[in-house]
Amino acid sequence: MTIEYYYDVVVVGGGPAGSSAAWEASKNGIKVALIEKEETIAQTVRTSGVTWIQNIKEFEIPDDCYNPIRNYSFCSQNNEVTIKDKVPHAAVLDVRKTYRWLADQAKQEGTDIFLKTNITNVVKNNEGDIVGVSGTGKNGEITFHAKIIIDASGFSSTVSKSMGFVTQWERFGVGAEFEVNAENVDQDTWWLMVGQKYSPAGYAWIFPVAKNIVRIGVGIGKPESKEDPTERLKKLIDSKAGPISKLGKITPIEFHYGLIPNDGLSRKTVYNNLILVGDSAGQANPLVLEGIRYAIKFGRVAGRIASNAIKSGTTDESSLYIYEKIWKEEIQDKIKAAGKVQNRWLKLSDEEWDKELDIIKELRPEEFLDFIKADFGLSNMIKLATHHPKLAVRQLFNLVTEWKRQKTIFK
Ligand SMILES: Cc1cc2nc3c(=O)[nH]c(=O)nc-3n(C[C@H](O)[C@H](O)[C@H](O)COP(=O)(O)OP(=O)(O)OC[C@H]3O[C@@H](n4cnc5c(N)ncnc54)[C@H](O)[C@@H]3O)c2cc1C
Repeated sequence: MTIEYYYDVVVVGGGPAGSSAAWEASKNGIKVALIEKEETIAQTVRTSGVTWIQNIKEFEIPDDCYNPIRNYSFCSQNNEVTIKDKVPHAAVLDVRKTYRWLADQAKQEGTDIFLKTNITNVVKNNEGDIVGVSGTGKNGEITFHAKIIIDASGFSSTVSKSMGFVTQWERFGVGAEFEVNAENVDQDTWWLMVGQKYSPAGYAWIFPVAKNIVRIGVGIGKPESKEDPTERLKKLIDSKAGPISKLGKITPIEFHYGLIPNDGLSRKTVYNNLILVGDSAGQANPLVLEGIRYAIKFGRVAGRIASNAIKSGTTDESSLYIYEKIWKEEIQDKIKAAGKVQNRWLKLSDEEWDKELDIIKELRPEEFLDFIKADFGLSNMIKLATHHPKLAVRQLFNLVTEWKRQKTIFK
């Protein structure tokens, strides 16, 4: 027998996007279900958890959920740079604690959380619009009817795929990571490692989580390379490549593995009664493949727009479109500009990476951070592209501003 539930909003996926959407919708006084296929929120960790303190503060994430970072080290085959800041601006999240805090916030506002509930199908009305989802719950077959469904199922985009609206991402990143105990951890400093030795199309990293804990990982872009990151990661750890050698004795605690879309902002993200958010919408910064802050921010926007639409009595595509407008206005240009830099980086040889690090060395901490975060404010970038004393830096930033200038001219 199928168990049937009726909600205003059903959110599929208990990651940062889903919990944030559920929280905001519940706060706005409507009936919300948050559905997660795993046994607990963040049972499996699929992310390295780097984000920015400014966003953490904006989201009011508690201080014990992250390790602050203020030094940013890069190494290539034959070069190395560390950009030192006076105060931390980046952070490595305790992913489980943060994601569970986000879900708990939603629960406290009244969201019903369904764990161990795997959504596999959609329910449509006579017009072919989505009006629910179905799958398997703790006690068998289960169906959720809703006025609006939010697809926050991450890379798999389960709901949108079942509706036939999207297909598998063509361009994406695959990451493998070991969280390890390490003897010598510089808790303030992260490492990004670039060049063929570290990743054939991407980069490797060391992100400190706590006094003696770091995450060591490798990300590889598809379809640029066929290699799986796990083997490369094991080789790098076994050979104690580059800065991994500084860590001393390493003891693995946990293995993480995941996929992240890198197709640009190619997807339509609203349909009648349906919103896509987070990775399912492709909301990721392609430079370093980070999406957590977008998932939280636009999850909240999705929750607010969905609940307002329900209160107003119309949940068709046009009444939800404001969601797409808001998030695209905020990040579309930045993500496109970051894509330009990523294309440049993917083509660099080891020797060229050595030189690229010389360019990065010239950046002040705030310039470096804006760049890596893809927070390209046009006036800042033009200043760097025209006035920076180093020609190579001007050329790098010209990449960003040329595209933006053309856009302004043709407007
Ligand atoms: C290796 C790697 C490293 C990364 N590192 C960073 C980083 O350092 N910083 C950063 O900002 N971003 C990073 N990212 C990206 C970041 O993890 C994502 O952008 C972010 O998790 C997106 O959140 P989300 O809620 O959209 O999706 P997810 O976090 O993937 O959450 C989706 C949830 O939906 C659930 N689900 C899926 N299908 C179903 C279903 N059918 N029924 C019910 N539940 C379902 C899943 O179990 C999951 O809990 C990384 C990604 C990878 C792969």
